Order: sequence, then structure tokens, then C-alpha cells
Amino acid sequence: MEEPGEDIEALSRYQDVIQEVLAGRTEGHKCPVCGDGDLECEADEVHVRVRCVKCGRFFEGMLA
Ligand SMILES: [Zn+2]
Repeated sequence: MEEPGEDIEALSRYQDVIQEVLAGRTEGHKCPVCGDGDLECEADEVHVRVRCVKCGRFFEGMLA
């Protein structure tokens, strides 16, 4: 059974990181899922991608 709240919950966890990435700060973030891994972050005009080098969890969002 799908968990309907998962995307919203993931988004809220990554929200602070995404805001900083959009502000141009792509270095030095820690993974909000495992709390320990470094995040690889990149953004262009339409996408934001955040990936943890430790646990491999990633978030990809499209900008409105
Ligand atoms: Zn992680």
C-alpha cells in the first residue's frame, strides 16, 4: 500500500537544503535522512537534485 504522505514528508525534510541550493549554496549540506552523509547538490533553471553520497537517498524536484 502506497504511503500518500511520503512525498510531502520527503519534501519537508529536504526543504531547507533546497532553499540553500537555490540560493547558490550547493556545498556542505548534510543528508536529512541519515543525518551523516554529505549531499551532492545541483540545480539548473528547472530541476533541483540532491543526493546523499552515503545512504544514496536522493531528492529531485522540478521548479514551478
Ligand atoms: Zn544519507
